[in-house]
Amino acid sequence: MTKEQKFLAYLKEIGLLREAVGLAEWDSQTGMPEMAAGYRAEMSSYLAGQAFDKSTNQTMADFISFFTSHPEELSDFGQEVFTKVKEEYDLNNKIPLERYQAYARLTSEAHSIWVESRNKQEFSIFKQTLQEIINFNKEFIPLWRKNEKTNYDVLLNQYEPGMTTEILDGVFGQVKEGIIAIRQTLAEKGTEPKTDFLNRHVSQAQQEKFVTHVIEELGYDFKRGRLDETVHPFMLNLNRRDARITTNWIEDDFIVATLGTIHEAGHGMYEQNVSEHFDYTPLAGGVSMGIHESQSLFNEIIVGSSRAFWKKQYPVFQEITGDTFKDIDFETFYKGLKKTQSSLIRIQADTLTYPLHIIIRYEIEKMIFNDDLDLEQLPEIWNSKYEEYLGIRPENDVEGILQDVHWSGGSFGYFPSYALGYMYAAQLYQAMNKEFDVEATLASDDYSPILNWLSQHIHQYGSSRKPSQLILDATKEPLNPTYLIDYMRQLYFEVYDV
Ligand code: ZN
Repeated sequence: MTKEQKFLAYLKEIGLLREAVGLAEWDSQTGMPEMAAGYRAEMSSYLAGQAFDKSTNQTMADFISFFTSHPEELSDFGQEVFTKVKEEYDLNNKIPLERYQAYARLTSEAHSIWVESRNKQEFSIFKQTLQEIINFNKEFIPLWRKNEKTNYDVLLNQYEPGMTTEILDGVFGQVKEGIIAIRQTLAEKGTEPKTDFLNRHVSQAQQEKFVTHVIEELGYDFKRGRLDETVHPFMLNLNRRDARITTNWIEDDFIVATLGTIHEAGHGMYEQNVSEHFDYTPLAGGVSMGIHESQSLFNEIIVGSSRAFWKKQYPVFQEITGDTFKDIDFETFYKGLKKTQSSLIRIQADTLTYPLHIIIRYEIEKMIFNDDLDLEQLPEIWNSKYEEYLGIRPENDVEGILQDVHWSGGSFGYFPSYALGYMYAAQLYQAMNKEFDVEATLASDDYSPILNWLSQHIHQYGSSRKPSQLILDATKEPLNPTYLIDYMRQLYFEVYDV
C-alpha cells in the first residue's frame, strides 16, 4: 500500500464511524424507545469520540506533516482530499483541548438556560451565558484566523468559505432595499389573496401521498432515501445511497409539510447525486450551508412558487383530497399559497419577508463581533430593526431576541447561509433558463432536465469546489442579488395583481 492509499483507508475508517453516529442519531429522533435515551447517548458519544480522536490524534498528525513536506507523494485526487482534511484538522487543533472542552460544556448547558429564559420571557436570564459564549468565540477567532479582514469574517468562513462582510454588506443592502420597495408597492396597489381555505383538514395520509408523488417526480430517489416524521424536519446524509429526510405533518395546515418536505428533498437530492469518486472522503458531502440551502430552496421557492408546477399538481392534490378543495379554483389556490405578511418569527415567515429576518440577524451578529456591542442593548436593537424593516414590533423577548436556538449552541455566522441560499437559487434559476425553459419543463410530465442541470453544475462536485467557484462556473458570474429581487418582484406583482 502506498502512503496515499493508507491515508485514504484511514479516512474511510473515520467516515464509517461518522456514518454509524448518523444512523444512531436518525434512529434516536425517529423510532428509538423513549427510555433508551441514556444508553443511546453512551453509544453515540463513544462512537463520535472515536471519530474525533482519529481526526486529531498522532496518526493524523503524522499524515498531515508527511504530506505537507511530501506533496509529490499525492495524486491530484489525493491532493484535493488532503487540502480539505488539513483545513478541518487546523480548525480542530488550533484551540487548546482544555479550552475546547470548557466551551463544549458551556454550550451544552446553555441550551437549558436559553429554554428557561424563554419560559420566563426574560432575555436577562440568558444574557450572561450568551456573553460567555461570545467571549469564547472572541478568544478562538485569532486562533482560527487565516487572512480574514474582520472578526466576523472568520466566523462566516466556517459556514461559507470565502464569504466576507464586505460582500454581504453590499448584497444584503440591495436585497433589503428591493424587498422593502416590493412590499410597499403591494401595500399600496396590491389585492390580497384569499387564504382561509389553507387551513382545511388534510389527513396525514393524504398529505403523504401527495408530497411523496411530488418529490419523486422532482427526482428524490426513495431507493436511496426515506421519509419519516420528526418535530423538527431535517435531512440526514449517511452516504450518497442513503440520504434520509423527515417532516412534520400538521393536518390543519397542509402547506407546512408539503413545502417542508419539498425543501428537505432538495437537500437529499444534492447528497444523492454527489460523484461516487468522493466516497469515504471529506469531499463526499455538500460543500457549504449556503449551497445546500440553494438546493433545498430551489425546490421550495422556485419550484414551489411556480404557476406551471401548481397548474399541473393541483388536480393531483384535488383528487387525493376528495371534495375538500372542490370549490377552490386553481387561481384562488395558487395565489393563496403566495400570500405575504410580516411575522415576528423567522420560521413562520413567507418567501418574500424571510430574507429580512436573516439580514436583521446578520447586522446584529456583525455588531457583536466587529463592534463589541453591549448585550444589554440587544433586545432594543432587535425590536427596533423589526419595526423598521418589517413594520411590526415584538411584545416580549420570546417573540424577539430569544426565538432562535442557534446562539446557545455557539453558531454565529450561520444565519447568512439561509439568505445566500435564496440568492443562489434565483441566480441558478436564471442561468438554467438560458439553457431550457424551466416553466415549460414544470408544466410537462418530465422534470428530469432540472435535476440533471443541478447535478451537472452543483451536486456532482461534492465539497471539491468552493461555493463561489460553483456559482461562477454554473452561472458565469459571481453572486448577484438582482436575480432574487427581480424574481420576487415578478412573482408577487402577479399574485397581487399589481
Ligand atoms: Zn434547509
